[in-house]
Amino acid sequence: ERKLLQELKGKETVTKAGQKIHLYANIGSENDLGYVLQNGAEGIGLFRSEFLYLENRDYPTEEQQFCAYKKVLETMGGKKVIIRTLDIGADKQIDYFGLEREENPAMGYRAVRICLDRPDIFKTQLRALYRASVFGNLSIMVPMIISAEEVTRVKQIIQEVKDELDEDGMKYCSTEFGIMIETPAAVMISGQLAKEVDFFSIGTNDLTQYTLAIDRQNPKLDKLYNPHHPALMEMINITVQNAHKNGIWVGICGELASDLTITDTLVSLGADELSVSPSYILPLRKKIREM
Ligand code: PEP
Ligand code: MG
Repeated sequence: ERKLLQELKGKETVTKAGQKIHLYANIGSENDLGYVLQNGAEGIGLFRSEFLYLENRDYPTEEQQFCAYKKVLETMGGKKVIIRTLDIGADKQIDYFGLEREENPAMGYRAVRICLDRPDIFKTQLRALYRASVFGNLSIMVPMIISAEEVTRVKQIIQEVKDELDEDGMKYCSTEFGIMIETPAAVMISGQLAKEVDFFSIGTNDLTQYTLAIDRQNPKLDKLYNPHHPALMEMINITVQNAHKNGIWVGICGELASDLTITDTLVSLGADELSVSPSYILPLRKKIREM
């Protein structure tokens, strides 16, 4: 069984009917890179950049971040690397951010909301990302989007960062720019959002939480936390339809992407990419090639 899986390493991820799926890996730090390559991932679909902030006692510097991103891009040798911008708050609290305690942090001050409120922090990360972009195939993705205005504002800040890099004589490459679809609001306006970005990545962990009104961190509700709920399937359907109507691709990077019992559905709904923990890559490739 193991040997059979190993043989799938360099192979394409394509169904018998010829539908090609991009199979990427989720990682939480540079330490996972070995697993990514060992398991034959075609790229990185979600690099949770929080780790740099979580393991530090103060805001990581531009240089620190640049080195980390450069290493990931170089190690992946030209394969696609999607780095998600900072997603703290909620379940990931960091002392030096000085965030106030909240009654309901999942619905609180987090992710892109913090980044837009504190552009100094956001710009440092974006500068590091763009400087690293010349070392590989970088895409940038923003979490927790609920409105087109947020996307516009993020794009303005990106333009400011690029202008500043130009002034400093620093090189950068053009990158794909995408957003996570992990709020019901983003699903409902995905037709509008698709006109503003290069790709969508559906974050089913949060999308399940917000759609079902079930705290993903509350073990008492584990039985009710059902990412197979028909409401979720319809949300994925709407998002994929709106993405494709507007000529952009759409992936799924929540835990649902690695659930082999739902792969048929995700593929038939039209997902172009699945991004999963490295250990799921080969079993998922096997599954899709048999479909
Ligand atoms: C998600 O919400 O599905 C996701 C991939 O992001 P995270 O689990 O980091 O919130
Ligand atoms: Mg999320």
